[in-house]
Amino acid sequence: MKKIIVCLTILGAMSSMNAQFNLGKAAGVVTKGAKALTFTNEDAIKLSKESVDWMDKNNPVAGPKDPYTVRLNKLFGKHKTQDGLNLNYKVYKVKDINAFACADGSVRVFSSLMDIMTDNELLAVIGHEIGHVKNQDTKDAMKSAYLKAAALDAASSASGTVATLNDSQIGKMANAFLDASHSKKQESEADTYSYDFMKANKYDVVGAYSAFKKLALLSEGSAQSGFEKMFNSHPDSEKRAQAIKKRAEKDGLWKDPGTVALPTTKLTK
Ligand SMILES: [Zn+2]
Repeated sequence: MKKIIVCLTILGAMSSMNAQFNLGKAAGVVTKGAKALTFTNEDAIKLSKESVDWMDKNNPVAGPKDPYTVRLNKLFGKHKTQDGLNLNYKVYKVKDINAFACADGSVRVFSSLMDIMTDNELLAVIGHEIGHVKNQDTKDAMKSAYLKAAALDAASSASGTVATLNDSQIGKMANAFLDASHSKKQESEADTYSYDFMKANKYDVVGAYSAFKKLALLSEGSAQSGFEKMFNSHPDSEKRAQAIKKRAEKDGLWKDPGTVALPTTKLTK
């Protein structure tokens, strides 16, 4: 049985080496054979659902009265059916700074991200993740991982060995998948979606700018950060921030937030 992670994150590839977030066997049971050729939306949704169920079981999920849940309810609650989608969300209480979305409409936000982002910035991240769901990016990513797994199967059956991957192989494959799935085009389209989401809901679009400035600071390994740097650097964050600034200026929505810094105290209380 092979399991592959099938979701897209805000920060790109996760370095699972030191990560607290458990992606070990995340998930989606990959069956074999010709099905790869007729990979449907329903396949993507089903496998995503299995992945998320696995991750929910294997990560510390914030309870209903947890301050993180209360805060996310406040921000995300009114967008559960955004754009005709059927979305669900949870907080994982982990040190890693990230968020992800899956084809089945599941969005997971990590508590450490909520520690460094203001409400507006979190809304921008939420908009970005909804963009991935809406654009069916996770379906494409899933399909390529599925085909990759099918190819691995073919190779191992040719050599006559049983195609069972151990945890470390699964981890490697999951990482390779997250890397591969992180296409610039999909990311910039999700950013555009996020900007439009902010604008349409009359949120401050500058939040999208400062969110990426903060992610850029993290990838620089900023010394002012008291937060652990758990993820691979994402060199595009600064460029993405500038792209948002440009659009905001054009729309007359730009308000200079000054120098963006990582907070020194947690923003979820
Ligand atoms: Zn993304």
